[in-house]
Amino acid sequence: MIQAPKGTHDIYGEEMRLWRRVEDEIRTLADVYGYGEIRTPLFESTDLYLRGVGDTTDIVQKEMYTFEDKGGRSMSLRPELTAGVARAYIERGMFNQPQPTKLFYIGPCFRYEKPQAGRYRQHYQFGVEIFGASSPAAEAEVISLGHTLLTRLGIEGVRLHINSIGCADCRVSFNEKLRTFLKTRLENLCSLCASRCEKNPLRVLDCKSPHCQAQIKEAPVTTEALCGECDTHFTTLRDLLTRFGIPYIIDGKIVRGLDYYTRTVFEFIRNDACNDASAQQAEITQQATTAQQAAPAQTVIGGGRYDGLIFQLGGAPTGAVGFGMGMERLVSLLRQDVTSAQFVPKLFIGHADEAGFTAANGITADLRQAGIYAVNDLADRSVKAQMKYAGKINARYTTILGATELTQNTCTVKDMETGQQQTIPLDGLRNFLK
Ligand code: ATP
Ligand code: MG
Repeated sequence: MIQAPKGTHDIYGEEMRLWRRVEDEIRTLADVYGYGEIRTPLFESTDLYLRGVGDTTDIVQKEMYTFEDKGGRSMSLRPELTAGVARAYIERGMFNQPQPTKLFYIGPCFRYEKPQAGRYRQHYQFGVEIFGASSPAAEAEVISLGHTLLTRLGIEGVRLHINSIGCADCRVSFNEKLRTFLKTRLENLCSLCASRCEKNPLRVLDCKSPHCQAQIKEAPVTTEALCGECDTHFTTLRDLLTRFGIPYIIDGKIVRGLDYYTRTVFEFIRNDACNDASAQQAEITQQATTAQQAAPAQTVIGGGRYDGLIFQLGGAPTGAVGFGMGMERLVSLLRQDVTSAQFVPKLFIGHADEAGFTAANGITADLRQAGIYAVNDLADRSVKAQMKYAGKINARYTTILGATELTQNTCTVKDMETGQQQTIPLDGLRNFLK
């Protein structure tokens, strides 16, 4: 028996209905907020991720599915979509359109991670990107979109954590401060963090190892090192969120795992038990030691501003903001009762004989043409077995066709909820069901 690859899952049945509900809500919101959908390839040049995500990140250092194609090129399955969408923005000349360009995507991402609750090797992300917008109103807009989505889906216990990691200038002085702090604890950090200290000390704040988490409790926070402009940007964003009525927590430990972020970073974190950021952090630390346990604190949405990305990938300097949301993590938070009504057949058309079978096939096809969900028997069942099947699939009405019905051009339709029956002309079925 061949099994699905480790860390992958199949989505079908009831669960698929929840996914459809989420995707419908996403598309409705995207239309209202003015985001166009984009689909990019599932694989890209490895270089794109080295430059676009960053070679000191967990994703690139540990998690990428990289392979050589038959032409000897290094390719990688996409671990995230922002880099690919940014590549498309530049390559397709979208910057020539009125700016900003606002895009959204839904699609699979691949990361070679240790599978556990809410962590897969193939997972799906919904994400949005705004290119060509430098105002903090852009951050406020994508945060509002995420917040609205969670609210509309009835999801509770998810909190917005925000932080500012400043611009490249602020980073220089902050990195110096942080390095000095980390150097005093070097021997207590994991080997990867110890090696990141020089090149990218900010990454250490993002490490999931409980030992590193414990070491950095007293680390300096980025908001203390902001330049005047970055400080004003962050204040304006906070004012906008307050005006939108979106509660948030300022959380100095949020730095995000990717190199391309500048200024604002944010996460929507699910954690029903904890109220403040430090308790949150404690919980993450504690949970990390028992990683297999269900329901650890989890980031559902992660995003921020990445003003350096487009330039880094060969375009002009371009203000950009976005987020990625884990679809599996979101769907797992949906209460079953927020799902849309189960999609049930309006009519099951059974047959009592050969003539009835032919007619049932034709009428089913006609009803479907008219947009009515009709079902007939495809399994050569007896009349009794057909009725049993109609009951199991929750058909709203049923009828059985045979020679008698066909001569009279009528059929007897049974209401499966009330048990009542009525005779209807065959050509009147469509109107009856509409
Ligand atoms: P985490 O800190 O949980 O590893 P991340 O910072 O690596 O998350 P991002 O790269 O920001 O995550 O991806 C955006 C979102 O995609 C995450 O907030 C999460 O909801 C989801 N996600 C990321 N990796 C996985 C995975 N392996 N399985 C399922 N969902 C994931
Ligand atoms: Mg990760």
